Amino acid sequence: MPTPAHRVRARQVHVVNTSLFELFKIGIGPSSSHTVGPMRAALRFARELDAANLVDRTHHIVVDLYGSLALTGIGHGTDRAILLGLSGEAPDSVDPSAIEAKIADIRSTSKLSLLGRHPIPFHEPEHLLLHRNQMYPIAAKPTPSLTPVPDGEQTSTLPTQPAPSSGPEAQPESQPSTHPNGLRLSAFASDGSLLASDIFYSVGGGFIVSQAEFHPDAPIASSSRSVPYPFSSAEQLLELAGRDHLSIADLVLANEIALLSDPGINRPRSPASKPCPEHSEGPAALPSTFAPPQPPRQQIEGSILALWSTMQISTDRGLATEGILPGGLNVRRRAPRLSQKLDTAGSRDPLAAMDWVTVYAMAVNEENAAGGRVVTAPTNGAAGVIPAIAHFYTRFIDPLTNQGIPHTATEPASGIASPGNTSTAPGSPAPAEATRAASVDPNVSALAQANSTASRIVAPEATGTPSEAARRAGLLRYFLTAAAIGILYKENASISGAEVGCQGEVGVACSMAAGGLVAALNGTNAQVEHAAEIAMEHNLGMTCDPIGGLVQIPCIERNGMGAVKAINAARLAMAETEGHKLSLDQIIETMYRTGMDMQSRYKETSLAGLALNIIEC
Ligand code: SF4
Repeated sequence: MPTPAHRVRARQVHVVNTSLFELFKIGIGPSSSHTVGPMRAALRFARELDAANLVDRTHHIVVDLYGSLALTGIGHGTDRAILLGLSGEAPDSVDPSAIEAKIADIRSTSKLSLLGRHPIPFHEPEHLLLHRNQMYPIAAKPTPSLTPVPDGEQTSTLPTQPAPSSGPEAQPESQPSTHPNGLRLSAFASDGSLLASDIFYSVGGGFIVSQAEFHPDAPIASSSRSVPYPFSSAEQLLELAGRDHLSIADLVLANEIALLSDPGINRPRSPASKPCPEHSEGPAALPSTFAPPQPPRQQIEGSILALWSTMQISTDRGLATEGILPGGLNVRRRAPRLSQKLDTAGSRDPLAAMDWVTVYAMAVNEENAAGGRVVTAPTNGAAGVIPAIAHFYTRFIDPLTNQGIPHTATEPASGIASPGNTSTAPGSPAPAEATRAASVDPNVSALAQANSTASRIVAPEATGTPSEAARRAGLLRYFLTAAAIGILYKENASISGAEVGCQGEVGVACSMAAGGLVAALNGTNAQVEHAAEIAMEHNLGMTCDPIGGLVQIPCIERNGMGAVKAINAARLAMAETEGHKLSLDQIIETMYRTGMDMQSRYKETSLAGLALNIIEC
């Protein structure tokens, strides 16, 4: 059987220059590959129609979903995402509270407004087709000419594709497949003739590629980018950093500064640049004209802290919102009750920090499961791990000593670090400094024993107390380093549960968080690499089998487990004094090969495992 194209691509060694802001993206739940990606694809197709002056000629649109998108798309909100994207909504700017009404209106009238301005009929049984037993096959390579559009998306002059398939039998499973998350959008004129059609693959983490971009011998979209430290492996990353005496965070920051001129990268605005509340639907929605010019480094740092601010808001909502999650499984949100219990009892428990980490991760993932605003990190399903460890760092580590500190029930949980955001937010911590310094938790104090590679570029800002400045710098190191690790997985393996199982989602998030935590604690680059390797080593083989196709069970708890495991991996790596046998590059390769060997029914199809053996109720 021919080798699927995505396998060929994943094994090619190419220069890594994906941006941190493409890995960490503000979106909506519940799934990056099944919600955010399809929504972006539908929006991009609508914009392609607009660029080709075809919107007003469009009578109706047919959407074909294949593979995992068809099998678990309904539970993951793919259908709703398509409706929103065609209506002109983007994942980073849509108002989550307005989504229900918008979807209800489309469904009750069987009409949607293409790009918000051209009404077309949209009756889902007729216009949204689920091809559950097939993936989109390899087709002839079209030759589009790519043209940038204002929001940073890429569009193409529309290649004419065959008309939508008439049903599953048209493309049997025995044909070579491309990717498990394929979708096709086709626009038709009033006489039934095909105006345009395009094919997209949602390749994980909210990333989409068109059929043309996906072709194995097509250049990847970002290959023309120029960065000072291009790396294609962890080994190369360590070499480059060592050569120039940089931390990994420094290196990534230098690359991000070089990418500032790239119009294809959307960066959230720093909260400090908010002009007034009415212009702020979310950090990403701020018009650039309102942002005062900042030096490059401050721009990058401000955008990273804007991502962190969004993560904090997701956590806060998750900790505050009670109720039953949507989808029909009757899963109750647990984060609010668990956090209340910890607030009253946790101060006497030496392991309270671990419990808080679990609760933070669950809070974010419950918000994700409810379709709320989250940051893909690197995916929606795994969106709780990275914020949970950031909360752990800001709440339970003294940034001046890197020593652990205990939680106290009376301690306020306050916000950190976002420029201009010094307000206290529930569940987003920065305890009183005097309380922090007073006591050291023996469970985490060993983390401070590692050698320090103080960052040369990511330096504390001269704002706030020394402790606040140190914490801010630690957070920046955390996100920059976690991004480097995530980019290695994305480029050399996969971050899609539909491709490699949950090892590619929660496993990768765990690996990113472990390495990032070491960096936050001023560990060495070698310890970062080691922690990331350990974390993935113990996630290998983890399947994706969500019950009912919903990102709830096992996903929500799994994020908590992944976050705790990240702390374990960081502690183990920082306690080691000798080298280690396995490299991060070897473990990334192993993860990918394990994913390829995994039966497809364990890869986001809900056809096996928990999804098969647990009765939905
Ligand atoms: S099991 Fe893992 S990969 Fe699958 S939907 Fe849940 S979080 Fe995503």
